[in-house]
Amino acid sequence: MTDEIVLASDNVGKIKEVNALLRGQRYMVVGQGELGVVPAEETGTTFVENAILKAKNAASQTGRAAIADDSGLEVDALNGQPGVYSARFSGAGATDSRNVDKLLSMLEDTPAQDRTARFRCLMVYMRHAQDPTPVICEGTWEGFIHTMSRGENGFGYDPVFWVESEQCCAAELESVRKNQLSHRGQALRQLVDRIALSPLINAD
Ligand code: IMP
Repeated sequence: MTDEIVLASDNVGKIKEVNALLRGQRYMVVGQGELGVVPAEETGTTFVENAILKAKNAASQTGRAAIADDSGLEVDALNGQPGVYSARFSGAGATDSRNVDKLLSMLEDTPAQDRTARFRCLMVYMRHAQDPTPVICEGTWEGFIHTMSRGENGFGYDPVFWVESEQCCAAELESVRKNQLSHRGQALRQLVDRIALSPLINAD
């Protein structure tokens, strides 16, 4: 029998991506919105704190095991910014394109060799809301910040994230290739391996 785990996200793409990787396992995920979960406030200052906040919130409102992730971009020339604030980088009413514009203008005077950056993804699995030992997985994707937007795929900072091995920006990659390389794909594959070994325990 397949067990349904709640995924602390309302992003349909993410839900599909996780289920594609779980195919053949005894687990599948269902988005938290379908179960009426009120999303958690992301008040943490680290990716791992936010991922645990989201998983705990989804597990406590549903009584199910939960998976959550938190991710973002770290730019070396900006001392790791935007980091956990990646989605909100350009302030109130932030959009992907405003965030990208802000990033490019902050790096205007930064030479190519100093534009190193990486995406990070922290993904956690909690067997129940009080689980004292969440399974924590991490993926990192190294790249550079390009000087202008390229490509139409993906989201967020993909149009300016230069991927050296592919000689293009992340937004120019097909989604299958992006998942093979990306921080989120890496974290998710680790998580799938690890939860396959971990028994499902419910709080009640
Ligand atoms: P989330 O934690 O997955 O919601 O990601 C937070 C923010 O980090 C997003 O809104 C994007 O700005 C950025 N981000 C995370 N992953 C990616 C990615 O794969 N491509 C581009 N931007 C990303």
